Amino acid sequence: QQAIQVIGGGLAGTEAAWQIAQAGVSVVLHEMRPVQMSPAHHTGELAELVCSNSFGALSSDRAAGLLHEELRRLDSIVIAKADNHAVPAGGALAVDRGVFSHDLTETLASHPLIELRRGEVPQIPPDGVVVLTTGPLTSPALATDLQRFTGMDYFSFFDAASPIVVGESINQDIAFMASRYDKGEAAYLNCPMNREEYLRFWQELCQAEKAEVKDFEQETAKFFEGCLPIEEMARRGEDTMRYGPLKPVGLFDSRQGDFRAPENQSKRPYAVVQLRQEDKAGQLWNMVGFQTNLRWGEQKRVFRLIPGLENAEFVRMGVMHRNTFINSPELLYPTLQFKNRPTLLAAGQLMGTEGYTAASAGGWLAGTNAARLVLGLEPITLPPTTMMGALFEFISSASPKHFQPMPPNFGILPPLGVRIKGKKERYGAYRDRALADLQSWRQKCQVSAA
Ligand code: FAD
Repeated sequence: QQAIQVIGGGLAGTEAAWQIAQAGVSVVLHEMRPVQMSPAHHTGELAELVCSNSFGALSSDRAAGLLHEELRRLDSIVIAKADNHAVPAGGALAVDRGVFSHDLTETLASHPLIELRRGEVPQIPPDGVVVLTTGPLTSPALATDLQRFTGMDYFSFFDAASPIVVGESINQDIAFMASRYDKGEAAYLNCPMNREEYLRFWQELCQAEKAEVKDFEQETAKFFEGCLPIEEMARRGEDTMRYGPLKPVGLFDSRQGDFRAPENQSKRPYAVVQLRQEDKAGQLWNMVGFQTNLRWGEQKRVFRLIPGLENAEFVRMGVMHRNTFINSPELLYPTLQFKNRPTLLAAGQLMGTEGYTAASAGGWLAGTNAARLVLGLEPITLPPTTMMGALFEFISSASPKHFQPMPPNFGILPPLGVRIKGKKERYGAYRDRALADLQSWRQKCQVSAA
């Protein structure tokens, strides 16, 4: 039996290699560090946390917390070690990063079925079962080979993403559905502003605090010269946004009468923020043209000044950073296998999830399925009502045209079917359904290949 190759010993690769070995299958885990470092990592340890030491909210009625809980029930090694090395962090699961990564490295290195091999893998191995988990900073040589394999249009080096808002949190007494000049189906939610509202928003945007941009990210930003951050557009002049993404022309709220009638001309909006539907169910809405480098707290403060978004709940904030990822809706099955080579799988940030926990979750599924392939078993998917199932369903079925990496969030879960007032109660109901479905699924199907 040929060993499975996992390329990249980050959060996803560590989990994938462990699940493969626990299923009784040999695995070679390739990690380029410390022989070759990435621009953000500092050590040679597996699963190094490049920035914050937090895996997100601990409580299972929060999206990250639910994902932790699902992984705990599926015997994830990353979450087990995070629990072992947790440090006090209010409501979050945060870890002592040095001890966490060192313990994972030792644990994997001492598993009899895991060979830890140091050094860059510059090309996708042509045969055998392979799991790609090289992350947002995939080495340049492998990135070039992946681009060849996937095709130019299905590979990104840079993530310039606008914030995504939960539909239910948008004030639809103010926002209206329409397409510009009524062309085609009404596909956008539009938030209109009068002059006073616009000027206040513009001024706050000009003064908002930016996040620090790393040197290696400035270099990559050159790829995106045509894609200005919204705050930079605002700084270029009072009206620049009104001639760009906030252009008001041709957008009418039919509830207020016919704006084309001369007597209604004065009621035309001065500027309009458009939100485009992100998921099939219409639960998530993407703020068009709002890619940004602002700090997350500042984004929330300033974007909530937009009429209709005063109580907006954000499932992901806008970002502009170096991020190597593939267009998974075009390329992957929800089992995380490539459609054009089912023995090749991908997980982690490379396949378009966002954050440490989501990367570990992808590693769990890709590792489990890689082992199943070797053992002659059918690859599996998780119930769509679980956070893991919903995340991989989203990744493999979102619109390929506008695909951007996605963190875990309740907006991607199928609706509950009953209206529950109160966010905490609603999220609690999502959690109860997810964990109950995960349990009955585990009873029905043999998850582990072992
Ligand atoms: P990684 O953890 O990056 O693992 C990929 C591994 O592959 C690395 O160890 C790398 O050395 C190795 N590798 C790359 N190319 C090769 C090759 N050719 N051959 C062999 N090995 C290779 N997420 C958060 O949740 N919180 C944060 O605070 C946060 N901050 C971030 C800051 C920066 C600067 C960046 C770039 C990302 C940040 N992220 C953060 C996202 C974070 O990278 C992911 O959440 C997580 O690390 C992704 O896990 P992964 O396994 O996909 O990739």
